[in-house]
Amino acid sequence: MITKSSAEISRRQFVAAGGLCMAAAWLTPSVLPAQQDTLVKDALREAANSKIAVQSLRRNISVLIGAGGNIAVLTGSDGKLLVDAEIITSRPHLSSALASINADPLKQLINTHWHFDHTGGNEWVHEAGASILAHENTRKHLSKNTWVEGWHYNFLAPPSGALPSTVFQEKHTLKMNDSTLALEHYQPAHTDSDISVHFLEADIFHTGDTFWNRNYPFIDYSTGGSIDGTIRAAEANVAKVTDKMIVIPGHGVVGGKADLILFRDVMVAKPGARTDAEWGNGFWTPAKFVGSVYQGV
Ligand SMILES: [Zn+2]
Repeated sequence: MITKSSAEISRRQFVAAGGLCMAAAWLTPSVLPAQQDTLVKDALREAANSKIAVQSLRRNISVLIGAGGNIAVLTGSDGKLLVDAEIITSRPHLSSALASINADPLKQLINTHWHFDHTGGNEWVHEAGASILAHENTRKHLSKNTWVEGWHYNFLAPPSGALPSTVFQEKHTLKMNDSTLALEHYQPAHTDSDISVHFLEADIFHTGDTFWNRNYPFIDYSTGGSIDGTIRAAEANVAKVTDKMIVIPGHGVVGGKADLILFRDVMVAKPGARTDAEWGNGFWTPAKFVGSVYQGV
């Protein structure tokens, strides 16, 4: 556990007083390299303007689909549990999507990995009452400034309230709202901090960004990702999935076994042969995807 220091508390009060603009300041790079891509800035703008759709899945679990990473929501008398926390600028949209499910408080947040489109809401979700749980490398990457070459972007360390207070290495089990959650770390794949979250009773499996459903994946070579690791994780997901399992990808629509198999086949085979026309219109273009593949070969 992280002990709350008085400095942390006063910083929180400062952030709360300043509102969203202050909270978003840590995402602004201190030095703008000449080749700075606009991708992250575009994502921040898109998230500010994108509504978040709520889709009920099975038992007491829903998925929220917006501009950033897909969020699983588990509800019940223990309060809400979220898997991932969107891009920071989506806060008003995420708040209303959560309120549309019910008025229960936020109690637990799990990060599937450290990226800004999955941890952007960490600070305010924590402020609202949730503890944060993640792989130890998620806390490591969020604890300092991190340059991501593939995005040409320097992410500044967020306020300490945004850091996971509980971390694990390989496996972790959590019980909440009559559900058992089995968390498992992947060998380095999309990053070195990726985990899956399996809601056992509902048989709903959140893959984080080891699986993008009908979009090309970004592979973050700067924090441990690789094409070999992406393929290994895709194989692990295919080995795990059953016919009745509902699969929540990091990005894209909710899917199942056939989608995981297609993704695995595309990662293993010549990229793009069958899929450029359909998958190439998303967040990561065919050219960028092929570039990230060859960077790792
Ligand atoms: Zn990611």
